Amino acid sequence: MLTVAEASERILAEIQQLDVEYVPLRRALGRVCAEDIAATVTMPPWSNSSMDGYAVRSADITPVMSGEPVKLRVVATIEAGQFASRRLKRGEAMRIMTGAPVPGGADSVIRKEHTDGGSANVEIRDATDVWKNIRPAGEDFHAGDLLAKRGAPVKPALIGVLASSGVSAVKTFKRPRVAIISSGNELVDIDDFDEVVAQRRIVSSNSYTLDALTRVAGGLPVDLGIAADTRASLKRKLESARDCDLILTSAGVSVGDLDYTRDVFAALGGEQRFWRVKMRPGAPLAFGMLDDVPWLGVSGNPVSAMVSFELFVRPVLRKMQGHSALFRRTVTVTVEEDVKIGANLMHFLRAVVARDGDGTLVARLTGLQSSGALTSMVKANALLIVPGDSPKVAKGSQLKALMLDQSLEETSVFSL
Ligand code: AMP
Ligand code: MG
Repeated sequence: MLTVAEASERILAEIQQLDVEYVPLRRALGRVCAEDIAATVTMPPWSNSSMDGYAVRSADITPVMSGEPVKLRVVATIEAGQFASRRLKRGEAMRIMTGAPVPGGADSVIRKEHTDGGSANVEIRDATDVWKNIRPAGEDFHAGDLLAKRGAPVKPALIGVLASSGVSAVKTFKRPRVAIISSGNELVDIDDFDEVVAQRRIVSSNSYTLDALTRVAGGLPVDLGIAADTRASLKRKLESARDCDLILTSAGVSVGDLDYTRDVFAALGGEQRFWRVKMRPGAPLAFGMLDDVPWLGVSGNPVSAMVSFELFVRPVLRKMQGHSALFRRTVTVTVEEDVKIGANLMHFLRAVVARDGDGTLVARLTGLQSSGALTSMVKANALLIVPGDSPKVAKGSQLKALMLDQSLEETSVFSL
């Protein structure tokens, strides 16, 4: 049996980046740039005012520095989006708005509050702003500067920068299409909820969690529904998954009499690379290649399916999309209770990680750790990693925790 790290390495070694495509700028969020992008323009294109006030020549306001106000003739008003029709001459000022181009000859913008606000003439009363309040052309970037490197994740700020440079479509890696197949005779979709009410079936919750996890990881879920526990049914589902970028099945990879998924995968010509990982939950993980489409078969237990996704599927989807940071963050935490495990496998326990009074990260388990209890995942913001070399970890010990969301950074209190 492979360790978690070995399994992850074996899987990722077979994963390639997907093809590239141009997407409209607004839809590029969360994707990864597939080429270097250089600026086509200079930003800002002209030196402009950072204040509402008066563009002046410093030479004209030297008396103000020694406390003597100066009167200048106001010869124009420049609004944002307008340009002065001529240079500023000696003894003159131009009213200017924030963002408006600074006229030639001016080297200072005096904020309105430091003047009498006049319109024919203006009295400059304070020289604090001499030489100031002018944003030079190109202070943000120059034409030819590299704005984004191939491999850069597209974030909101980059979208703004690219917009400024006229990039209306971005060359990015494609988002992986993930075929999601559930299997089990006990399962129905929500449409058949009367079967659940009649206590004959349960809803295939994995069809929903795996769909949601796929979206969070940037993938495009393709729900192929529920296969019955028969070879024929599984075969049909797997065949219809062949045109996706990843096949993700849940259940039917354990040792039960009706666990046919691996058999059917092989019968279709799939090559299984490994089966089973030294971990709990989620030990019966299968990985293989069906032609050049990778297949991951996760255990059907709702928690196992999610944990396996976080550890193995999410990095696959990120690699396909061109990300270089594939893995979730782990943090060192102090456990707030004794932690006992039942087998010498690496355990991933549902936990809440928070900061205590002095800022130390502490972890507390969410309670019942059954791999069937999905509510434990709802409560958790982290998976506490128990290495498995000892059956008990004492309260106060340090362990690693894999953060599942941003909750450590987020707070309901506005505090800066
Ligand atoms: P299996 O991997 O087929 O042995 O299933 C393990 C457990 O997970 C069983 O209790 C199944 O009922 C449950 N299970 C399997 N598939 C799903 C699913 N899609 N949604 C919810 N529970 C499931
Ligand atoms: Mg089953």
